[in-house]
Amino acid sequence: MIAAPRGSVPIGLSADECLKCNVCTTVCPVARVTDLFPGPKYAGPQAQRFRLGTTLAPGSPGSAALPSPDHTVDYCSGCGFCSTACPADVKIAEMNNRARAALRAGHRPRLRDWLLGQTDLSGRLGTLSAPLANWSLRNGLFRWLIDRVVGIHRHAPLPRFAGRPFRARLGDRHRSADPAGAPPPDRAVVYFHGCAANYYEPHVAKAALDVLERNGFAVIVPPQVCCGLPLISNGLYGSARGRARRNLGVLAAYARAGYRIVGTSTSCTHTLKSEYREMLDLEDDDARVVGEATWDICEFLLDLHDRGRLDTSFGMIERALPYHAPCQLRSHGIGLPALDLFALVPGLDATDMDHDCCGIAGTYGLKSEKYDIAMAVGEPLFRKIRAMGATEAACDSETCRWQIEAATGARLVHPVEILAEAYAAWSGGVAAG
Ligand code: SF4
Ligand code: SF4
Ligand code: SF4
Repeated sequence: MIAAPRGSVPIGLSADECLKCNVCTTVCPVARVTDLFPGPKYAGPQAQRFRLGTTLAPGSPGSAALPSPDHTVDYCSGCGFCSTACPADVKIAEMNNRARAALRAGHRPRLRDWLLGQTDLSGRLGTLSAPLANWSLRNGLFRWLIDRVVGIHRHAPLPRFAGRPFRARLGDRHRSADPAGAPPPDRAVVYFHGCAANYYEPHVAKAALDVLERNGFAVIVPPQVCCGLPLISNGLYGSARGRARRNLGVLAAYARAGYRIVGTSTSCTHTLKSEYREMLDLEDDDARVVGEATWDICEFLLDLHDRGRLDTSFGMIERALPYHAPCQLRSHGIGLPALDLFALVPGLDATDMDHDCCGIAGTYGLKSEKYDIAMAVGEPLFRKIRAMGATEAACDSETCRWQIEAATGARLVHPVEILAEAYAAWSGGVAAG
């Protein structure tokens, strides 16, 4: 479900609304740990005045001579806390992202940034050669070379490729690009698995299908490509628009027919809900209907519960479970639905770790020059999880799971895996309310 629109002022011009209150700086996880980034107020609205000065009045006296503050904007992780916290609705994170894209426009993308955006290509190649690819990515010499030559840090948390992509495991579930012949929208949902569940974590996709089917929904898995967020984060807007168009071309037909689109990655669902329009300026009807039809899976399940339609026959799971809410989830503005769902599972003692950012921020913490910053940002969270002695923790975002798992040694799961486990543990009796 789409959050209420955040103001109508265009991203660039929202800088004029800045009250100079510094709230954004106090919530910025990156500015907290490094002097390399001067903080959201400076890199956002303040720098925007320089950008507008040079953009709106080219050649005007003094404007072009102003020193560009933009070299620092690359250190913004794009976590979005500043935009969420700003009382004047200045779109700081979005402004920074656009400034980064503008800096890169007209230049050939850096190989590392281009590679990080090619998630479908790397996923296809990696799953085809999974044993070799997984061995290489855990080989110290190979990782050292990748660090030096490509710029991906040798200790950065890289996931393991699955032996077979999720889509190759799909049985006869509806895979058509066309809703004709699908069950009606009150008995079926469209599943957007994204690249992570397809190539790295098919077990998350399977848990999602199990939980949705348990609740009486047929699951339609139409053709799809990466949502494009890694391209947006790395300033490659042109390629991101190409991915967006391909997804919208398929998903819009379902959305118009009344189907809800449910995703297991808070990053993918936020991209479908908001980023296609806010960042890529895709303001047509396809982007609108898809944005309005998209739900994060925990948001969707909690809505079912609120309407008395969730199957609450959860079996006992007796254990403590630290939970980290990813920043992309906070940008949805939907609260923490996973925690509300965990409360329905008997015996489960889930605790919100109440920490802003694990540091990885999509592909940010993978980069050689950002790795130490990312680890410093996440360290308080890692300490809390280690102090609990937890062997398992939950988080809705894949890159966060990989980061936290690598840093703590705990096994990281998606909330829907816990729900699937709780359904499997049900042995009859009275269901939770
Ligand atoms: S929080 Fe918003 S209003 Fe306050 S300084 Fe930052 S951008 Fe300006
Ligand atoms: S998006 Fe995150 S890292 Fe970037 S300025 Fe805002 S709070 Fe800081
Ligand atoms: S890594 Fe996770 S918590 Fe950190 S910025 Fe990204 S999504 Fe948010």
